[in-house]
Amino acid sequence: MKHTKVRDLLNSTTTLQEVNAKGWVRTFRNNQFIALNDGSTINNIQCVVDFENTPEETLKRITTGAAVSVIGTLVESKGAGQKYEIQVSKLEILGDSDAEKFPMQPKKHSLEFLRENAHLRVRTNAFGAIMRVRSVLSYAVHKYFQDKGFVYVNTPIITGADAEGAGEMFQVTSLPLDNLPKNEEGNIDFKKDFFGKHTNLTVSGQLEGETFAMALGQIYTFGPTFRAENSNTSRHLAEFWMIEPEVAFNNLDDNMDLAEDFIQYVIKYALDHCGDDLKFLEGRLLEEEKSKPQAERSEMALLEKLNFVLDNNFKRVSYTEAIDILRDSTPNKKKKFQYLINEWGADLQSEHERYLVEKHFKCPVILYDYPANIKAFYMRLNDNTEPGRETVRAMDILFPGIGEIVGGSEREERYDVLVQKMEALGIDKEELYWYLDTRRFGSATHAGFGLGFERLVLFVTGMTNIRDVIPFPRTPGSAEF
Ligand code: ATP
Ligand code: MN
Repeated sequence: MKHTKVRDLLNSTTTLQEVNAKGWVRTFRNNQFIALNDGSTINNIQCVVDFENTPEETLKRITTGAAVSVIGTLVESKGAGQKYEIQVSKLEILGDSDAEKFPMQPKKHSLEFLRENAHLRVRTNAFGAIMRVRSVLSYAVHKYFQDKGFVYVNTPIITGADAEGAGEMFQVTSLPLDNLPKNEEGNIDFKKDFFGKHTNLTVSGQLEGETFAMALGQIYTFGPTFRAENSNTSRHLAEFWMIEPEVAFNNLDDNMDLAEDFIQYVIKYALDHCGDDLKFLEGRLLEEEKSKPQAERSEMALLEKLNFVLDNNFKRVSYTEAIDILRDSTPNKKKKFQYLINEWGADLQSEHERYLVEKHFKCPVILYDYPANIKAFYMRLNDNTEPGRETVRAMDILFPGIGEIVGGSEREERYDVLVQKMEALGIDKEELYWYLDTRRFGSATHAGFGLGFERLVLFVTGMTNIRDVIPFPRTPGSAEF
């Protein structure tokens, strides 16, 4: 007999004579009621054991975490909270779980404890929900772009370019670290390395993505990226997944429209397809926030917050306007910001971004036209900017509770301007000859952005630490599992 997923059993339209369910015991009450979960849904199915006719030995083995198979009749439940339950006629223990030793006890565990048990935390309601939402969101990402005719591109994970510029890189080598070959000048001889040159893990697929956009028109990447930044924050991982669309003939306004439409689409998709999980996560967040002072609690419940993002346009604000707002803001005047905003040109810290989003505008914000010297070399220089106040066609999208979720720009399509910029910053033109070729042969306006997938999952699930929305987080000092 083939077993049926719990989700399908609970969604059944009729009672059924004989069903088989397989899963893991969440709890076992009164020697009679098994709450069985198989990961197909947040909801458990109640399995009622005929304890009088079941050997004591078997009953003892029905413990939290044990894998079991039950055969029985699907009947309408007399108990509250569930439509159906299984009247068990045959129960088989597939895998025992020592109740004393199983770390996932049926009680509240701290997120910290669960992180240390990342291989088992997925057996909890919260992490099951988060990981299902994450999966549905990644499907929505592909669906959005595929439906629009974007081509999915797998950009390299090992990159030969040292100058992607987005962050600190992890080096990739097969040289023996205890006996490095040296060249005549006494430096490490990377010619002897696996690739015959120095290589790194990618920090972004953008530069390669641009070459594809200049042939295929609209492309997107969705893959792992790596940053060796030693910032131990709740928003940074050393290994994270990034989505990077790149579109030929799009300017910065088109880029903003695309990013906004895309984010709203995937959030809507999650709302439409993860209702039970999101409802559970909303409850979890409310519970968690009870222990916080009123001022630190979210103003909106999770589902309300997600719907708010769907129903309201993102506020588009230039960097210059933002600086004016920040300079005149109360925390700036009262010197509450750690970094005070005194003048145009200052880089915005996350405290400033969060003030703009959470206190001032109270909605997602797209900041654009940043000073050229705080942004990457490939961003398009604005026409008609004052000397000394040059700006580039950059945009960052800021989200409440998250800060930056998207970074993007219209790209500098003019060969001469790009070369000048690279020279001024000391970026090796020979190394990036292939990137410059896009500007030498059939260059055109184009634009794109990078969205950190885990930051999106953070927002949608209402979690607050990025380590809790990726299966096995990699952070400074930690690469367990
Ligand atoms: P931040 O200022 O938050 O470090 P960034 O300016 O370095 O971000 P970009 O280089 O523009 O970010 O990368 C694009 C997107 O990738 C960001 O908007 C963010 O969503 C995500 N991102 C960047 N760094 C990380 C990281 N270490 N962990 C998780 N996501 C990240
Ligand atoms: Mn960064």
